[in-house]
This record gives sequence, C-alpha cells and structure tokens, in this order.
Amino acid sequence: MDFNLTEEHLMIRDAARDFAQTELLPGVIERDNAQTFPDELVRKMGELGFLGIMVDPKYGGSGMDAISYVLIMEELSKIDASASVMVSVNNSLVCYGLEAYGNEAQKEKYLTKLATGECIGAFCLSEPEAGSDATSQRTTAIDKGDHYVLNGTKNWITNGGRAEIYLVIAQTDKHKGSHGINAFIIEKGMPGFDIGPKEDKLGIRGSDTHTLQFNDVKVPKENRIGDDGFGFRFAMKTLSGGRIGIAAQALGIAAGAYELALKYSKERKAFGTEICNHQAIAFKLADMHTEIEAARMLVMKAAWDKDQGNNYDMSSAMAKLYASKVAMEHTVEAVQIHGGNGFVKEYHVERLMRDAKITQIYEGTSEIQKIVISRGLIKE
Ligand SMILES: Cc1cc2nc3c(=O)[nH]c(=O)nc-3n(C[C@H](O)[C@H](O)[C@H](O)COP(=O)(O)OP(=O)(O)OC[C@H]3O[C@@H](n4cnc5c(N)ncnc54)[C@H](O)[C@@H]3O)c2cc1C
Repeated sequence: MDFNLTEEHLMIRDAARDFAQTELLPGVIERDNAQTFPDELVRKMGELGFLGIMVDPKYGGSGMDAISYVLIMEELSKIDASASVMVSVNNSLVCYGLEAYGNEAQKEKYLTKLATGECIGAFCLSEPEAGSDATSQRTTAIDKGDHYVLNGTKNWITNGGRAEIYLVIAQTDKHKGSHGINAFIIEKGMPGFDIGPKEDKLGIRGSDTHTLQFNDVKVPKENRIGDDGFGFRFAMKTLSGGRIGIAAQALGIAAGAYELALKYSKERKAFGTEICNHQAIAFKLADMHTEIEAARMLVMKAAWDKDQGNNYDMSSAMAKLYASKVAMEHTVEAVQIHGGNGFVKEYHVERLMRDAKITQIYEGTSEIQKIVISRGLIKE
C-alpha cells in the first residue's frame, strides 16, 4: 500500500490549487451575491482540461484517472463550490455517461465538445414528483417510429440554463417500471424545449440551477443512449461515479473552511493569547483535521476503486455520506472559530457553510446513500 501521490498527481493538484487561488478566489463573494458564474472562467477551465478530466484524449479529454479528478475537485471546492459542481456534473455525469454508454456517433458528435469545454452539459433525472424515488418518472418519451416525443418537467437541473447538451431520463413504457425508462440526448434549441428561471438558493449560488420543460419535443431515435430500457440503469451507474465527485466537493469545502479556521486561530487574540492556545479551539481543530483526513481516505478509496475497475457503488456512497457530514459539521465549527467575523461574507466561511448543505442532498440524499450502503452490505 502506498499513501503517496505520484509526481503527476502532485502537479495536477498544484495546477488546480493555483487556478483556484488566482482565478476563482477573486470575485467569488460577488458571484455568490449576484448568483453568477462567468463564461470566461468556464472557458479557462476547458483550456486547462478540467471539463473532460477522465475522457479519452481521442475525444478531446485529458485522459487522467479518477484520483486526478478528485484532487482537482477538492482544490476547486476549497474556494468555489459553485464552479466545482459545474465541473463535477460535466465530468462525471455527462462526459462519463456518454463515454461509457454512448455509441461512437454520439461520442463524436457530443463528447468532444463537452470534454474540451466548447460547451457544457446537464444531467436531468429529478422531477417535481421524482427525486429520491427516481423510478417515479412522469416525463414521458413516446416511440413514434423514427423519433420519440418528449413531454414533462425536470427540476433542480445544474447547468440548466447555460448547457448546450442535456442527458434527459424519461419513461417510455410505464408498464415496464424501471425497465421502461430511457436516457436521451437533447440539444438546446430543440422546438418545445423551454428553460425556466434560475433558482434563488441557500448555497452554491453561483451555480446555474433551473427547471426545464419539454412540450412535444421531437427527439431523433439515434439520440437514445444504449438499448431500449437501459435508462434507469444508465442513471444509477452514472450517479455512482458522480458521487465520487460530490464527495470530493464536500471534502474540499470542509478542508477549505478548516484551513481558514486554522489560520485565523493563529492570528486572533483573546485573553492575551492566540485563540488556538485555548484548548476548546485547539480540540476543534484536532477534530476537524482528523475527520477531514478520514473523509479524504474514503474519497481516495472510491476513486481508486473506479481506477482499478472495481465496483464502486458502495465506496462512492460511503465517501459521499461521510464527506458531506464532515463538510456540514466542520464548516459550522469554522464559523464558530471565526466568532463574529465568521458571520460576515468577507471571511468566506459563512459561504462554505451554506455551500456544504447541498452535498448532503444532491446526487442522492444522505438517507439514500445509507440505503445504497446497507443494501450492499446485506447482499454481500
Ligand atoms: C442545487 C441543486 C442542484 C441539483 N442538481 C441536479 C441535477 O443537475 N440533476 C438532477 O437530476 N437533479 C438535481 N438535483 C436534485 C436532487 O438530486 C434532489 O433534490 C435529491 O435527489 C432529493 O430529491 P427531492 O428533492 O425530491 O427530495 P425527496 O426525495 O422528496 O426527499 C425528501 C426527504 O425524504 C427523504 N427520503 C426520501 N425517500 C426516503 C427513503 N426511502 N428512506 C429514507 N428517507 C427518504 C430524503 O432523504 C429527504 O430527506 C439538484 C438539487 C439541488 C437542490
């Protein structure tokens, strides 16, 4: 067993750290306030290869492993979780979904654009009546011979407004239950496809979250991903890898807040000494560091499982469950260590605390991760 990162991994981590410090940090508070994420930063991340991290270079990707992916996600998330969720969705839900399960024509037409950052993608599973219970899809795609007709509503869609390519899950035969679900590639601008207003959120406010409406959208048959009825399995397999990205996002949020809290505790004085010399504060730092390191081990293990070709359904669920709990608990502690300064925007920890919450909700709530883990245990 080797706990060291390779030279290449260290370089990738340093490149992501450098980008986060020089490009994401300036303006992160303003973007959070105004709920924006500029195209310019998306373009720069595309140039650095952050939008197709694990994609084969023959489709314009960086050809890196999942360990590299989580290192990049952690560094971006320490500074700007709104940027990192965009990166995570594009990489592990959209690019991975297409690369692993799309056919050659679909990869050539769509994957290259997504992996280079020429455009970004969105993954559309959730609906007003189908969140955790994703089999209850109300969106329908009716087979009309050479095309499907798509009708329904998807909500909470990350990258929903600015994406060009959307992977949409829909019910094609309700009598077949989860086997009557398919995944389709939808392009922005297809007649009948409308994008609702941006959500006003608690956290990750710079990320672009929208409700999407499909009204008699004509979808060519060649836009279906995989065999007829593969859609639910497609969604579950893709989300399993997505959870590694969100676990790394949670880890980054926690680690970012911890680093700020440690620094502040060495500078701020109370009762004649730096506050880190008060045991109540020092013990908080010890707990934070220990639990963040434990979360990092789970995140790395899940990424390693993916790189080794092992099944990662359980390890990704465990990593997300734990890292998101650590993120929520320790961002609250980071605010506490900052005292009154923790409650205002300029010290960053209040934003990290607000951003942490979503990691316990999207790509499967913590309760759903426990279902995945316990089912895996019982099956073993
Ligand atoms: C900012 C944001 C971005 C998102 N991005 C995307 C995206 O890009 N694409 C996409 O498809 N979706 C996206 N989502 C949707 C997200 O994945 C869902 O919100 C999430 O899966 C939960 O579904 P729900 O909101 O319907 O909650 P519900 O499913 O209604 O759950 C409500 C509560 O009940 C609990 N619960 C439900 N079932 C069980 C059970 N069997 N046992 C125990 N507890 C249970 C849940 O854990 C939760 O606590 C996003 C959501 C947000 C807020």
